Amino acid sequence: MELMYSSTRNDKVKFTASQAILKGLADDGGLFVPEHIPALDVSMDALKDMSYQETAYEVMSRFFTDFTEKELKDCINKAYDSKFDTTEIAPLVDADGAYYLELFHGPTIAFKDMALSILPHLLITSARKNHVKNDIVILTATSGDTGKAALAGFADVEGTKIVVFYPKNGVSPIQEKQMVTQKGENTMVVGIHGNFDQAQTGVKKMFNDSALEAELDAAGYQFSSANSINIGRLIPQVAYYVYAYAKLYKNGVIAKDEKINVVVPTGNFGNILAAFYAKNMGLPIAKLICASNENKVLYDFFSTGTYDKNRDFILTSSPSMDILISSNLERLIYRIAGNDAEKNKTMMTELAETGKYAITDDMRAKLEDFYGNYTSEAETASVIKKLYEDTGYIIDTHTAVAAGVYGKYKKDTGDTETKTVIASTASPFKFTRSVMDAIDEKYDAMGDFELVDELSKIGNVKVPQAIEEIRTAPVLHDTVCEVEEMPLVVKKFLGV
Ligand SMILES: *Cc1c(COP(=O)(O)O)cnc(C)c1O
Repeated sequence: MELMYSSTRNDKVKFTASQAILKGLADDGGLFVPEHIPALDVSMDALKDMSYQETAYEVMSRFFTDFTEKELKDCINKAYDSKFDTTEIAPLVDADGAYYLELFHGPTIAFKDMALSILPHLLITSARKNHVKNDIVILTATSGDTGKAALAGFADVEGTKIVVFYPKNGVSPIQEKQMVTQKGENTMVVGIHGNFDQAQTGVKKMFNDSALEAELDAAGYQFSSANSINIGRLIPQVAYYVYAYAKLYKNGVIAKDEKINVVVPTGNFGNILAAFYAKNMGLPIAKLICASNENKVLYDFFSTGTYDKNRDFILTSSPSMDILISSNLERLIYRIAGNDAEKNKTMMTELAETGKYAITDDMRAKLEDFYGNYTSEAETASVIKKLYEDTGYIIDTHTAVAAGVYGKYKKDTGDTETKTVIASTASPFKFTRSVMDAIDEKYDAMGDFELVDELSKIGNVKVPQAIEEIRTAPVLHDTVCEVEEMPLVVKKFLGV
């Protein structure tokens, strides 16, 4: 039986997995969800000996039922290859009584690589399955990190091109260097004279420009986006939770069917939703611990039942979690509303109009698998310092938020026995200065690359390739344009 997908705002229209991946977002603004969460009908004794790629196949084949075995395995093998600097892809590190699941061994040393390395292959396979002959042109506006992860994912993927726009004076020097050194004939990186909002508006305009669409179509191209809410980004993330569980079982850390906790540093709610899907597939997970930084909208949501984004936006040392609208939460709301698209739509309309909504008591009762909390900036820094001093293991600021919240969870609940996996979402080398400052103030006087070498020395870890490249790689992209010129730049790149 084919597993079909529908929008969280209209469950009357059904789509296959490949159609949902190709569309990204539903026409009504909702997110695609599977009709039900499939069971993980493979024994843990079989899973425990599988490679990452084999595990990913077992998980993804249950969701993407209209892909053939060969199609899916091709996507998986092209994604999780030597772009990752460890054959395990997502290794577990035991430190201070918790298991850190390192999701940062991909090309941009952060966890978005786990999804963005496979999305291009799923997208192009979906296009071909649905008889789309055109090449797919990905347009992205970025404030820094997502742009690089998307570029790395799409670089040299046949049948695709990618154009990334960033605010010329609005990203960090390291972020800019990472993007403008991107290899791949099918990639283009453009700085604009404007801010991130203008870049994003410019991209949206191109998506909605039907004259441009016709021109492109005539030349054999069509636009698509690598949007963070694409179901093709969410499902691959379920795999690493299954993989982590299976490895703990294999290593004798947990007994058969023993429940574990999972802690996730959360922003858009994608990563923790993947863990929730894993639990619903049957993976023995006890609590899903949702960790926020000072932008604690989700903590407030879990403790009051009201989601309220009307508050100041706080810049923290864990910028990828500085988010006030967690878009993937909509998939959870839909589910705890009893897969009720109308009810969900009412709440999302309220969110759009007033910036907040409240869930019912019934819905709240279905959130008992979740525990939410947050850490302050000072707490985050002291977690990094303490873990380093106690164990020698160095974690990044996002992971430290999760570790700090795990500490609070243990104090609050007294649950110190359940084995716990902490999603480690970025390499400490991605946020070197914040990490080193947390360990010792004296590091503040050092230059950026000096700090990188010092981190490598005190943490006894090799400098990742992604950082080495920034030092030496030649600049390959130097296009800068006005906001109005964005469509022209795209057409010129495509030769239209
Ligand atoms: C994107 C990101 C997160 C947040 O993940 P969500 O799926 O958006 O909740 C956490 N840490 C890092 C390093 C990230 O890049």
